[in-house]
Amino acid sequence: MTDCVFCQIVAGKIPSETRYQDEDVIAFRDINPLAPTHILIIPKKHIPSLTHLTDAEASLIGHMVRVANQLAKDEGIAEGGYRLVINSGEQGGQIVPHLHMHLLGGRRLADRLC
Ligand code: 5GP
Ligand code: ZN
Repeated sequence: MTDCVFCQIVAGKIPSETRYQDEDVIAFRDINPLAPTHILIIPKKHIPSLTHLTDAEASLIGHMVRVANQLAKDEGIAEGGYRLVINSGEQGGQIVPHLHMHLLGGRRLADRLC
């Protein structure tokens, strides 16, 4: 997907502050952080949203959570607590149509989920 901003980050065509990557996923700092730690964990493969995730791809989510948990430790926010969020679709608040998980922490987050 050449017109997808996150695919371009995967391809190295748009710079990002990468915090982790392996064969399947890449994690980088959000360009507009909403908390002291705000990292996006995304599959390298273009999957538009959770709705488009196939059964064969579902294990990616577990892998993304493991990466997020490790990053939370690396960032020093694991003990204090953090939040993982996946927005899906327009009403779910998804703006970039490439599946991604937000890792948010480093301060007391809002009590209300939405
Ligand atoms: P969404 O609302 O789709 O769940 O979140 C998309 C997130 O991607 C937003 O928090 C936004 O700041 C972030 N974002 C959009 N474009 C870029 C970019 O080019 N680089 C980085 N690092 N983050 C981006
Ligand atoms: Zn993409």
